[in-house]
Amino acid sequence: MIERVKVPALLHVYIRQKMVIGLVQLDYAVIHRFGSENMLEAVDFIIKNANILTLDEKQTRAKSLAVQDGSIVGIWETTEPPQGEIRDADKVKVVDLQGQTLLPGFIDTHNHLLGYAHVRRYVPCGQPLVKTIPQLLQQLKDKAAEKQAGEWIVGFGYDDTGLEEQRHVTRDELDQAVPDHPVFIAHISGHLGVANSKALEEAGITEDVQDTEMGHYGRDENGRLNGALFEKDAMSRITQGQDQASPEQVMAQLAEASKEYLAQGITTNTEAAIGMLQDPAGELALYLKASANGTIPMRAQLMVMHTALEDDGPFAGYDAEKMDAYIQEKSNGRARLDSVKLFQDGSIQGYTGALREPYYSKPDTYGDLFHKQEVLNEKILDFHQRGYRIAIHGNGDRAIGSILEGYANALKKQPKARHQHRIEHVQTATLEDIEKLAELDVAGSFFINHVYYWGERHEKIFLGPDRAARLDPLKDAVDADMLFTLHSDCPVTPISPLFSVWAAVNRVTDEGRVLGPDQRIDVVTALKSMTIYGARLNFQEDMIGSIEVGKRADFAVLDRDPTAIDPMEIKDIQVTSTWIDGEKVYTK
Ligand SMILES: [Zn+2]
Repeated sequence: MIERVKVPALLHVYIRQKMVIGLVQLDYAVIHRFGSENMLEAVDFIIKNANILTLDEKQTRAKSLAVQDGSIVGIWETTEPPQGEIRDADKVKVVDLQGQTLLPGFIDTHNHLLGYAHVRRYVPCGQPLVKTIPQLLQQLKDKAAEKQAGEWIVGFGYDDTGLEEQRHVTRDELDQAVPDHPVFIAHISGHLGVANSKALEEAGITEDVQDTEMGHYGRDENGRLNGALFEKDAMSRITQGQDQASPEQVMAQLAEASKEYLAQGITTNTEAAIGMLQDPAGELALYLKASANGTIPMRAQLMVMHTALEDDGPFAGYDAEKMDAYIQEKSNGRARLDSVKLFQDGSIQGYTGALREPYYSKPDTYGDLFHKQEVLNEKILDFHQRGYRIAIHGNGDRAIGSILEGYANALKKQPKARHQHRIEHVQTATLEDIEKLAELDVAGSFFINHVYYWGERHEKIFLGPDRAARLDPLKDAVDADMLFTLHSDCPVTPISPLFSVWAAVNRVTDEGRVLGPDQRIDVVTALKSMTIYGARLNFQEDMIGSIEVGKRADFAVLDRDPTAIDPMEIKDIQVTSTWIDGEKVYTK
């Protein structure tokens, strides 16, 4: 049987296996020749009176569609399916969207659902709630008053350059405010934090501690530890020491966090990465259980920290195929391996992003590469040969260049078509870097929300006007014809695909100024980068990412059409319902 879609003068012809065999130019007279032999025999429900942005190749608009067994089986440009299209149409359930806009469900390709589940129970220390150090200390004091002496106090979201004092909180200030509890406050970037003396003591961090490649310890002018802990090796000493939530508590938090994701229209989500916080095997088991039992209803893509797949890691011997099979089996097919995750630098606002030219306000500071080039090359080649798609965090342009060198080296030794290795954040890529990404077929997942949240500070403090104006250079990515997506990096910024689309289209900062107007992109391209491009990035473009016959019925329904309103209002559009596999999983 041939399924069909009526779109203006076009007919997509599918065979049963859902493989496109042709895109045939036809008019309606020809379509009608198929007659009743093409009538849809069984349909679970119809959506009518919708403003459907299919985001297919032709940017087709439609007004009604039919779903069966969680898949789209018919799409029409009429407000309801024409007579004769569906057998016993009058008996089929109808959902009337009353003119609301229906899009493919959003695909967020880089955030930390698991991390977000954890930080939801921490003391909020970020803007706009906390603007000064005394306010921050008060937050911690209030929490301490609710707890027994000796219990951990953990805060999240503190941002030194967002504070009036423009500096880090010190160990001594934390000691004074909360003397009887170990205290640790994590920076909004996730790349550093500050501990008080009790926390340092419990974590076994003493004055003679040595810096490592992926961890260093802040010191005052006398060389004494000031409580600041930078990067994973230093911070994980604390996170392993603090009292942990029980698996039941984490599961409950995951359920709540997932609801927030669904409320933003997200139907496929990438966790970046398993093994970043605690023991990777434990984290993976929990995540897979949450996927299998529906606690996390979104389709899940899992990045796995490289350390879990190396040397003494719990999955040391696993190649990509075996790892993916394991993930799919344990999640009942709801989760899949996305990639192996590495880091090659830190964050710009933590001065740990590796730049080619120094930081604007610190002319001696360039930030450091996490791995020496030879070491990174070896790691990339190893994972490339084991069949992994690789995703490497690179904010600074020097890190981006180094990652590209590693990819080029591996691809030269073992060429591979459509490898889609990735660079994460890509914030300060030069035009040459972007062209190199395109040339090597490396995909970029851009942290566009930075333009709004840190754009002003990037211009005035971290990068200066020239580099700030080309922060997250999306127009260059479009012009270079490279595959790219947008992300929130939640909990670094709030989860909201429509906000990311808004940021990409407007590039407006929190002071209302346009930063780098040349790098703005159009609304449809921005929407595609959170839908069909994400599907392509996930190797799932045959299954999701656009509204087409044969694809899964994953939808986001919006109260307004993002292509038909003032672009500055896109972030205020409400998601009214979210659908996965034809099931409504969220209603406003
Ligand atoms: Zn991240």
